[in-house]
Amino acid sequence: MIVIKNRKELQNLSRKWRGEGLSIGLVPTMGYLHEGHESLIKRARVENDRVIVSDFVNPTQFGPNEDLATYPRDFDMDSAMCERNGVDVIFHPEPSDMYDDDTSTGVHVSGLTAGLCGKSRPTHFDGVCQVVNKLFNLSLADRGYFGQKDAQQLAVIRRMVRDLDMPIEIVGCPIIREEDGLAKSSRNVRLTEAERTIAPRIQMALKHGESLRKAGETKVSVIKEAVCAKINENPEMTIDYVEIVSWDSLTEIEEITGPVLLACAVRLGAVRLIDNIIME
Ligand code: AMP
Repeated sequence: MIVIKNRKELQNLSRKWRGEGLSIGLVPTMGYLHEGHESLIKRARVENDRVIVSDFVNPTQFGPNEDLATYPRDFDMDSAMCERNGVDVIFHPEPSDMYDDDTSTGVHVSGLTAGLCGKSRPTHFDGVCQVVNKLFNLSLADRGYFGQKDAQQLAVIRRMVRDLDMPIEIVGCPIIREEDGLAKSSRNVRLTEAERTIAPRIQMALKHGESLRKAGETKVSVIKEAVCAKINENPEMTIDYVEIVSWDSLTEIEEITGPVLLACAVRLGAVRLIDNIIME
């Protein structure tokens, strides 16, 4: 496994691989890797001749009052996990390696980015699309692997790839959870012990909503209210949003008639946690 910091070096290697007829899988991450990331890496390993994992806390997707400075990092741990999983390259640039000072180009996906996380993080998806575009161009990947944990991100990337005819297949992967149901996240380590104990109640609230749907409820407002009520039983939690939108156009609906995304973001202490269920 090799570590690359320089973006031209990555692109040259990818070009060589492509020239040899090898397929390339890309797993974009912000590092502090856990079993959620590992599931994407394992799938990429099975489906491609070469696997590139990017490990980069991308500053352009953080807002001014967000947790860029405190985002957890441990490159040695990340390298060990990648090595164990047969990764060929970890791309680990510094922000100055990744962006020229006068970078002035991005991609904006409208509509899908307006609701859910986009409401409280208005510049987030522009940053995500910018860095993901660069990573696609540098890795020349045939396939890009993304988790359903960030369901809105997955939908936005799919739309961008479709709209701009990008020559890459987007592979969505299921959410990996802790034994108590909490969705694995690099940010979980920032929860206090007490917060960590109650954090699984977020998924429990979503599952409660799902059970209403399974029992025949189709009104979005009814299910949303029930999920909010469950979360609000915990005074330590503050709801950023609870939404039900069509999957995967993310359009607002009142009545459930097809596949929907039930998604939420909740603040617990210093940490903002997201989780979701896709209800077919
Ligand atoms: P991040 O490092 O948080 O930006 O995540 C990198 C990729 O891993 C994204 O595509 C995430 O959706 C995915 N991911 C993060 N956590 C999980 C999880 N618990 N299960 C599945 N995929 C995940």
